[in-house]
Amino acid sequence: MNLDDKAIIAWNNAENCNCDIQDCAENHKICYLCGDTIIYGAHESVKNQRNSKFKWNIDHIIPKSQGGTNSNDNIIVVHVKCNRRKADS
Ligand SMILES: [Zn+2]
Ligand SMILES: [Zn+2]
Repeated sequence: MNLDDKAIIAWNNAENCNCDIQDCAENHKICYLCGDTIIYGAHESVKNQRNSKFKWNIDHIIPKSQGGTNSNDNIIVVHVKCNRRKADS
């Protein structure tokens, strides 16, 4: 799979997951908003994935509406479902 540069930077910014699953170290990070597992292979751009509840994309630590920028230190990974909920509130 080919993630864009921003997605890879956000992935590298994210905190490591620490669960019991064998490939955790390589394939898991933590959602910035809810703190649950995000799976690398479940990026939003991946079609027909089985891990849709882990689907993720990038978000901004400081929202753009509050003056946040698209700079590399302001992007992070979140579940799509978490991102959407924040947008609703
Ligand atoms: Zn894990
Ligand atoms: Zn989440």
